[in-house]
Order: sequence, then C-alpha cells, then structure tokens
Amino acid sequence: MHILVVEDDAALARELCDRLRDEAFAVDSAADGVEAEYRGAEGVYDAVVLDLGLPEKPGLDVLRAWRARGIDVPVLVLTARDAWYEKVEGFEAGADDYLGKPFHVEELVARLKALLRRSHGDHAHTLSVAGLTLDEDSQAVSDATGRTIRLTGTEFRLLRYFMHNPRRVLSKSQLAEHIYAFDDERDSNVIEVYVTRLRRKLGRDRIRTRRGQGYVFGEDGA
Ligand code: CA
Repeated sequence: MHILVVEDDAALARELCDRLRDEAFAVDSAADGVEAEYRGAEGVYDAVVLDLGLPEKPGLDVLRAWRARGIDVPVLVLTARDAWYEKVEGFEAGADDYLGKPFHVEELVARLKALLRRSHGDHAHTLSVAGLTLDEDSQAVSDATGRTIRLTGTEFRLLRYFMHNPRRVLSKSQLAEHIYAFDDERDSNVIEVYVTRLRRKLGRDRIRTRRGQGYVFGEDGA
C-alpha cells in the first residue's frame, strides 16, 4: 500500500510518515500544493492524506484538479478545528473522509485503513449475506457449496436489494421502488413473480412471506 502525505507542517508531516511506515505502508510526502498535485497525478497511490491549508496551491484546489482529471484515489482531508465549512467543501470537492486538527495519529491511521478497506471492497464487487455471495460484475450468485446461479437483470436487482436489507420486512411496493428506475413502470404485482423465480433458483426458505406485510430475506434457519 502506497500513501501520499500532503502536509506543510514539517513536524506533523514527519510524525505521520513515521507512524504510517511503522504500519508497513510505503509513504511519500509533499509540502506544498503544486508538488502534491503533480505527485498525486502519477497514479501510484492507494490513498492520500491531504491538508487543506497549503502554500503554493490550496488543498481543495489540488483535490478538485485530481477529480477533474479522473484521479479517483481515496483522499482523507485534514481540516482546521471546528471549520465545518471546510468539511462540507472537502466532500463537495471529492474527499472520502476528513479529520479535524488537532487529531490523534492513531485515529488517522484507523481511518486510513478503513478507507483502504472500503476502496478494496469496491474493487471486489461482491456481497455475502446468509450463505449467499452476490457478484456485482457477473450478476451471478453462488451458494455456500460454490454452486453458481445466473440471474436475469431484474432478479439480480431484487436479490441485491434483499441482500442489502436482510431480516427486514420489505413490502412489495417498497421493493418495486428500489429495483426500478424513476421512469420505469412500477407494477408491484410483478414482484411476486420475481420472488417466485428467485425461490426456484435459491431455495424456497431464503425469502419468506409475511402475510399482508411483504417478504423477509435471510431469516434464521433460511
Ligand atoms: Ca497546513
């Protein structure tokens, strides 16, 4: 994992870099906005820690420039204490997380690791719930034995919504709202048809009927 630390406070930069190296990260640092923009554009970093108050070029402009060029590296922004507007501007500019100064270095390390895990999860495109694994790329689901089941587009969207909301009662109209686009014709009776198809492919007990209420996915014993 390769991290870029952008911070003009030399003592803080050194402390962060040392601590991150202790965590077995490869770490580079930049002390001004122009150097930061150039280095970040190289595309070699797994994450960036970006201070906003920088000489040469403000951190927000650096972040906007990266995002405008399609550089989607995860960025954790460091903001001045209690500067809520910096947090808002940071997120609008494309930051993934923020930390207000002063902070404990341990918190920064923990947040950075969480950011890296999230970005890796995104690459995997899989979701595992109740013994089923959903592959978002191939639109297929596999069970605990590794058996792969291919799904149609609507079956996939419906199962994905169930898997993001396990053990919750979901009404037919709620399901229809979440699996169809705004302009699609939403006929909640069609949900019944798709639930029947999913049960045929996945096993009947995966999706239980709550009479008069809707359906529940992944209940105990299912
Ligand atoms: Ca600064």
